[in-house]
Amino acid sequence: IVQWTPFFQIYKKQRYPWVQLAGHQGNFKAGPDQGTILKKLSVKEEKCFKVLMKDVLRPYVPEYKGLVTSDDGECSYIQLQDLLGDFVSPCVMDCKIGVRTYLEEELAKAKEKPKLRKDMYEKMVQIDTQAPTEEEHRLKAVTKPRYMVWRETISSTATLGFRIEGIRKADGTSSKDFKTTKTKEQIIKAFMEFTDTFPHAVPKYIQRLKAIKATLEASDFFSTHEVIGSSLLFVHDRYNANVWLIDFAKTLLLPEEITIDHSSYWKVGNHEDGYLIGINNLISIFVTMLEK
Ligand code: ATP
Ligand code: MG
Ligand code: MG
Repeated sequence: IVQWTPFFQIYKKQRYPWVQLAGHQGNFKAGPDQGTILKKLSVKEEKCFKVLMKDVLRPYVPEYKGLVTSDDGECSYIQLQDLLGDFVSPCVMDCKIGVRTYLEEELAKAKEKPKLRKDMYEKMVQIDTQAPTEEEHRLKAVTKPRYMVWRETISSTATLGFRIEGIRKADGTSSKDFKTTKTKEQIIKAFMEFTDTFPHAVPKYIQRLKAIKATLEASDFFSTHEVIGSSLLFVHDRYNANVWLIDFAKTLLLPEEITIDHSSYWKVGNHEDGYLIGINNLISIFVTMLEK
């Protein structure tokens, strides 16, 4: 387990250390009001939060409290409910949901002029010397779209429809060393360590995940959006456990002529995100843990 202080911020305004498990550190600040945080504005994300505040999913996302501009007027932020606010020394886990974490348009752009990339080949062989084809080995290079698609297969993203981004445990240790955590067994081990000594959390997580699934199926927001790179934030302490949907910076309104069911397999151009594949696997993995 790596201790990575950069992701562990202590904000003056908050009476407790705030934990950030993913993303760029400069994107977050303590909010002007107690129990809130500020995230750097993405216009797309702000649009999503506005719609979500009127959707059945509202109880499952942080409350959106509007736009805030920094004192120098340089930067805009969205003000969000701090989901850790009601917990005492919370354990936190970020799971990124979906069978891919890039947008169709990002892949299309990478395909426009697919240059051979030696750096991406190097990253590839560092993780798996078997991954490149004979030709790629000969060229000592891969194209970016090839790398993007492959990258989703080294974690559980492509197969289970979610991956662990980061975990902070009760003892204060944090890790985001899950890039190649791929099999159900590896995930169960990580979840076991996460909930270790908090047995009450597992059934609460299952209950909440089932409620999230049922609500997603009834949500207008969910049926009209492609949800990419969004996470579920799991939080528990000695008393409580809860899960929320966060991070809508890459969640897009679907083109009008396209509908998706969030559980069919993704093929280039069909916009399927595999969100429900991830939710179903999370539920079944937590249920398996109860039976152990
Ligand atoms: P990335 O796209 O790399 O995942 P990001 O900059 O879009 O990152 P988020 O994923 O929204 O940022 O959040 C990063 C981390 O900050 C989360 O993993 C979580 O630990 C923390 N976080 C985000 N929103 C909240 C919230 N409302 N309350 C508490 N913690 C939060
Ligand atoms: Mg995120
Ligand atoms: Mg994001």
